[in-house]
Amino acid sequence: MNSFDINEFRQLFPILSTSVNGKGLVYFDNGATTHKPLSVIDANSNYYQQLNSNVHRAAHSLSTTATFEFEQSREQVKCFINAKESAEIIWTKGATESINLVAHAWGLAHLKQGDEIVLTSAEHHANIVPWQILAEKVGAVIKVITLDVKGYFDQKCIEECITTKTKIVCFSHASNVVGKINPIDKVIKKAKSVGALTLVDGAQVIANTIVDVQALDCDFYVFSAHKMYGPTGVGVLYGKKELLNHMTPYQTGGEMIKKVSFSGTTFNKLPFKFEAGTPNISGVVAFSKALNLIEQHQLNNNLAYKQTLIDHCYHELGNIDEVKFIVDGKPELPIFSFVVNGEHHQDIASALDTYGIAVRSGHHCAMPLFESLKLDGCIRLSLAPYNTIEEIDFFIRCLNSILGKYSSADDCLNSELEHKESNSLLALFDSAQGWDGKHREIMMLGKNFPRMSREKRNEQTLVVGCESDAWLDLSVSKLKTNEKVVQISADSDAKIIRGLMAIVLAAYNNKTVDQILNFNIDEYFTKLGLKQHLSPSRGNGLLAIVDKIKASII
Ligand code: PMP
Repeated sequence: MNSFDINEFRQLFPILSTSVNGKGLVYFDNGATTHKPLSVIDANSNYYQQLNSNVHRAAHSLSTTATFEFEQSREQVKCFINAKESAEIIWTKGATESINLVAHAWGLAHLKQGDEIVLTSAEHHANIVPWQILAEKVGAVIKVITLDVKGYFDQKCIEECITTKTKIVCFSHASNVVGKINPIDKVIKKAKSVGALTLVDGAQVIANTIVDVQALDCDFYVFSAHKMYGPTGVGVLYGKKELLNHMTPYQTGGEMIKKVSFSGTTFNKLPFKFEAGTPNISGVVAFSKALNLIEQHQLNNNLAYKQTLIDHCYHELGNIDEVKFIVDGKPELPIFSFVVNGEHHQDIASALDTYGIAVRSGHHCAMPLFESLKLDGCIRLSLAPYNTIEEIDFFIRCLNSILGKYSSADDCLNSELEHKESNSLLALFDSAQGWDGKHREIMMLGKNFPRMSREKRNEQTLVVGCESDAWLDLSVSKLKTNEKVVQISADSDAKIIRGLMAIVLAAYNNKTVDQILNFNIDEYFTKLGLKQHLSPSRGNGLLAIVDKIKASII
């Protein structure tokens, strides 16, 4: 294929012709993970059908072939990012593990009290938490580079944060929320000038832009295969050989050793020193097909079609008055993060889901970024080159229709509303058509759910475990019979969560402690059709509410 043909390209991805909630899938959550082409899926299953054996160990032909394919993929990654040697490519299970590896294997040995680690406010939790834990262990200090209004690293802040105390600077090539490609060459140059190392989190960029680690001259570069059309459970840590050679192993066991005896153990050479245990062999082998796809279609080389998607989506979203992008200016990656004035991001995302449109809402594993933006989350659309202009237009029509349908103008604060009983909800949901109908009922319940006063929404009533803020207040009164009756009020800024709370309260509110403890809430959720449709995070949120109620009355 010379010029990019979107119809042909889409056909490579079987999942794109499936339906969700009875609607054709429109997948705009590629920042979380991309879909896999048939070549990757086939390579993965062919491995198990024709090659299955362990690598680097056995003296038989099958293992030799598996090892060859496994090492070929490493060689291909080396070329893909222009590393000097394949020994510099360490297989991990993802960007997260790659960062943890460096934090442990380099950080523990090289950092001491008072040393500084520089991060940025836009980092994914994967590039924050390992450094925080390391800093606590060794007494190091974390400094944070903030963003400018356009979402790039603030230039002045780079200069101020990186000093002679800095030992490592860890930053994303592009954040998974902002979609701007950061001027990482400047950060690397500044880090070098003070003798600090650099770790670049390339998870979002690697499928979109040509990365040349030698030209960048970074010390570490990490990414995950599953965000570049490859399998889950495969990741890469690139590290300069001289650094990797001086690092102690992260995990220990088989494969990473040269000699083991009870008088001591010596370690294998690179890259095996960092690959303890049996790796994800089928995943690594299949990853090679994902790299072929990117190269064959030049997906990472200024693909004009991708720019058309970016321009169109940015323009169309910008035409909706209620849409407010979280940073100024058009993104360079097809990632659009925005809030919708007057609407909760969870409500919009769950409503889009009923149209078969998959977007992400929440804090996107970047809580510090949202803290700095003073937002509790946003909606994120992340596109891939198999998305189309028609899909964007469909999404825009749906968004407009949602904004008309679920206008929050008539939200009622402290309105008087009879609480529904569980039986009446079961009947209501039974007659609702499909998930679309059930979703509408939940949103209506949420819309009419009495709100708690602002004073009552505080730290004490906050429910931990919900992705959106949720509050629960509970009091117990004693009847003449000595039975205890539980009165519950609850609230959330998201209508979808309030609707789910209404469902829980229909079963629990004004019931005795015994009635609550004997009520089979699992069966109730299943009968309502919630278990089958709620995402794990929302499902966990619901369970967190149930758990908090139960914990308060036992
Ligand atoms: N960094 C960034 C920028 C990411 O987007 C992600 C995944 N969302 C990660 C790190 C972590 O990747 P993984 O879960 O594949 O380890």
